[in-house]
Amino acid sequence: MSRVLLSVDNLHASYGPIRALRGVSFEVREGETVSVIGANGAGKTSLMRAISGLLPLSEGKASFLGKDIRTSAPHQLARMGMLHVPEGRGTLQTMLVEENLRLAWEIRPTDRPFADAVAEVYSRFPRLQERSTQLAGNLSGGEQQMLAVARAIINRPQLLLLDEPSMGLSPRFTSEVFRALRELRDAGVSILLVEQNVSRALGLAHRAMVLTHGEFTLEGPAADLAHDPRVMASYMGHA
Ligand code: ATP
Repeated sequence: MSRVLLSVDNLHASYGPIRALRGVSFEVREGETVSVIGANGAGKTSLMRAISGLLPLSEGKASFLGKDIRTSAPHQLARMGMLHVPEGRGTLQTMLVEENLRLAWEIRPTDRPFADAVAEVYSRFPRLQERSTQLAGNLSGGEQQMLAVARAIINRPQLLLLDEPSMGLSPRFTSEVFRALRELRDAGVSILLVEQNVSRALGLAHRAMVLTHGEFTLEGPAADLAHDPRVMASYMGHA
């Protein structure tokens, strides 16, 4: 078995009286792609924010490579190789595409020169190379999502946390983003994906969990869940 990168144990998190996560436990191992699916408001974004240190845990623990996330700032976790692509993309709209990539590269100091790092990213996303001197804010939705993923992968993450990469994208752009994610998966990058688009999420992942009102109600190999009628039922609130 490959080593555990992320370990989440009995995680609880709240916004005041609203309990967004109610005892979530799972692991992500090296080389694995794991999807968390669930309806609007199920707690997917809260889970990502809790794991990356942006939302305080009220109970439970989470660690990345054995290090407790509660005692690590988000930028420290990023330096260790856990990179979060937040919902809504988070690119720097008034900066050029290549400036966005350079700032991301500066987050995680390594010996690799920027020219090499950016060349690798452009080979994966040729569209970004064509757009390298444009403002990020002028890119299409799909290109901005690619840029957000590119900002994360420029530092060769061990674990990529992706929050709803298909959000707001047309089917064509969604396909392009997921093609890039498949390539990353096949290159051995570990991915934790939260996504409302069930067929995309299950098509990409090795394993998946269904989150309903802050709890996992179903989990298993993604290929099995793709045929499980309980997945759709959980979206309709009947699980
Ligand atoms: P969506 O797909 O709509 O983003 P989600 O599955 O990501 O949904 P969360 O955004 O994590 O779900 O929300 C989980 C619960 O926490 C919901 O009941 C939501 O209303 C609540 N919530 C989320 N953010 C806040 C906030 N900043 N303040 C108060 N409640 C919040």
